Amino acid sequence: MNEKQIGKINLKLKVIVPINADYDKILFKWRWPKGFICPGCGSDRIPSKQRKGKIYQCLDCKYQASLTAGTIFHKTRTPMHIWCRIIYIFVKAKKNRSIDAIKITDITKIVGYKNYKSIYYICDKIRSSINEPDSDIDISWFADYFDELRSDEEL
Ligand SMILES: [Zn+2]
Repeated sequence: MNEKQIGKINLKLKVIVPINADYDKILFKWRWPKGFICPGCGSDRIPSKQRKGKIYQCLDCKYQASLTAGTIFHKTRTPMHIWCRIIYIFVKAKKNRSIDAIKITDITKIVGYKNYKSIYYICDKIRSSINEPDSDIDISWFADYFDELRSDEEL
């Protein structure tokens, strides 16, 4: 990819996957698409948020459910908008059958995140997650989510 292409995708992604989206809310929707179900007691009462919204506590049994435990986002220190922008790139590339052509150096420039090691790790996680069709939590959901968000706004 040349600098011009990189700049173009960078601008596009800033619009599609905004930095100021409510990522805790989005993660919640992804984890519990039909609403919260407590893994401890099966209660479906809306849990209370703990610690910056990443942990939810069941009102009935006090079970603490984490938004990110057991997922590829577990303990990440990279902001969610960076993750989601990279997921978006990979999901679209998979549809175009160009997923193997993605260069990590291009991704670093596209998302404007200089930590090559983190980006390398993230890309590796995302690539294998997208290539494993039986993974129980499908991260390509995020790409669809942001596409739908935009088409709703255009109406
Ligand atoms: Zn419970």
